[in-house]
Amino acid sequence: MDVSLDKLLARRISAPYLTLAVAVFLATAGNIKFWTTFAAAAGGLTPAHLPLLAGAMLIIVLFFNACLTLASFRFVAKPVFIVLLVTASTASYFIAAYGIVIDRAMVQNVFETDVREASELVSWHMLLTIGLLGLLPASWIARARIAYPQGRRGLMLRGAIAGGSLLLAFLLLVMLFKSLAPTVREHRELRFLLTPTNTIQAMNGYLRSKWSTPIVVAPLGRDAMKGKTWAGQARKTVTVIVVGETARAMNFSLNGYRRETNPLLAREPGLINFSNVSACGTATAVSVPCVFSALGREEYAESKASSQEGLLDVLQHAGLKVVWRDNNSGCKGVCARVAYQDLSQALAGDPFCEGEERHDERLLAGLPELIRNSDRDLVVVLHQKGSHGPAYARRYPQGFGRFAPVCTTNEFEKCSRAEIENAYDNTILYTDYFLSKTIGLLRQTAAQEGMDTAMLYFSDHGESLGENNLYLHGAPYMFAPAEQTRVPMMLWMSDGFSERFGIDRTCLMARRGQPLSHDNVFHSVLGMLDVNTAVLNPRLDLFHACRRGA
Ligand SMILES: [Zn+2]
Repeated sequence: MDVSLDKLLARRISAPYLTLAVAVFLATAGNIKFWTTFAAAAGGLTPAHLPLLAGAMLIIVLFFNACLTLASFRFVAKPVFIVLLVTASTASYFIAAYGIVIDRAMVQNVFETDVREASELVSWHMLLTIGLLGLLPASWIARARIAYPQGRRGLMLRGAIAGGSLLLAFLLLVMLFKSLAPTVREHRELRFLLTPTNTIQAMNGYLRSKWSTPIVVAPLGRDAMKGKTWAGQARKTVTVIVVGETARAMNFSLNGYRRETNPLLAREPGLINFSNVSACGTATAVSVPCVFSALGREEYAESKASSQEGLLDVLQHAGLKVVWRDNNSGCKGVCARVAYQDLSQALAGDPFCEGEERHDERLLAGLPELIRNSDRDLVVVLHQKGSHGPAYARRYPQGFGRFAPVCTTNEFEKCSRAEIENAYDNTILYTDYFLSKTIGLLRQTAAQEGMDTAMLYFSDHGESLGENNLYLHGAPYMFAPAEQTRVPMMLWMSDGFSERFGIDRTCLMARRGQPLSHDNVFHSVLGMLDVNTAVLNPRLDLFHACRRGA
């Protein structure tokens, strides 16, 4: 039988088959570096990991197939497929040859480099790779005679293929979630290695940043002033806001958890635990900017929040000094105009460091000095590393390993749900200790320095620990389970603090079970500190109804 290429090309090829072939080609040959990195991240290329690798590959083939099917129309399919093949082969050459990742900065480099610089990159190896993986298949496609399904039947066929591919990919994703989630979460570089989606994403980001107008931050609450309870007060105030990480409400024994994860906070007199609080988002990058903005969850958008001042700015306008101390990955823009201290870097000889891990107690190091040396009323934000996964077991000092055995690997498939939960519960136990130590420090400051002190704690979002086969967090809010959206929140005030601001503890205690959310934080912090400003919405201020003489 004559199977020469020209014969083959002379035949008409049906568009769905060609689309699938391009999807398979892009997912495999166009992504060798992605797959070697993925295999290493998933624990190596061993027979035990093969189902995961095969499953992941199938998910990507199906996803590509769905996307390409939407472009498989006459006059559209050929140019799109050709551009994708050439782009993908070029990207994968540079990824493999230079170990680079394709992100916005890299696209900017490409666009802003000059011809001489660019010509230095050209090599035989490059021409061979792009020729074999890009130009050769592209030229076949250019010459191919494609039979497109026609009319209404054609549209329905495309819809069915795209929908079916996505559905199948989703089912596989659900099945493999336990193993996939930690691998992808721990190896964010994978996102930048998958071609051609990395290139499309990076181009999109580059063009958007190039055409967008620079962000002008609109002022907020410039009218903010200390209210009348501040008049004639000689004592300074210190308010600590602890922003937790990945702590979910239901694993706090204060909220009725079956295990004793809050042995110290449970014995804290006067602590008010709010038991019904929902987060603004299911990821740090949403929740943290949202909770410090005046927008609230319904109104929140990243662009809106970054172009408007937030809670910390309003506090500063009222004359308070604000310091953000971070043991996480930064403040996501909310501390842009206040003092910032990065405490997340490992320090040799630091008692709170274990290797590369910095435990949250470091956030308290130097805090008494900071308080003593401040000439103004102080608001300190402590941003915890908290219960950040999947390496829960690294988040706490060894002495807090009360619940055992624990999962010590990022490969969740090697751990039982009980081992994952044990490690997670130990992080909550450590947070219990950390918060209790913070309160102890503030109580001592109140007594020794004659200051009025308070601590407000809330977590940014929760975490899934295998319920419905979900792990970690970041689910779309609409579908997110309560494990990811319910967060702990608690308040401690020195006697002087509640006295001075006329806050009725009994009233607050009575409200501790009512539904609250991150939306309340902005207004309640201003309300608690008796800051007068037009941007304060009394209906969202938790303290409004609980102020004596109000
Ligand atoms: Zn977070």
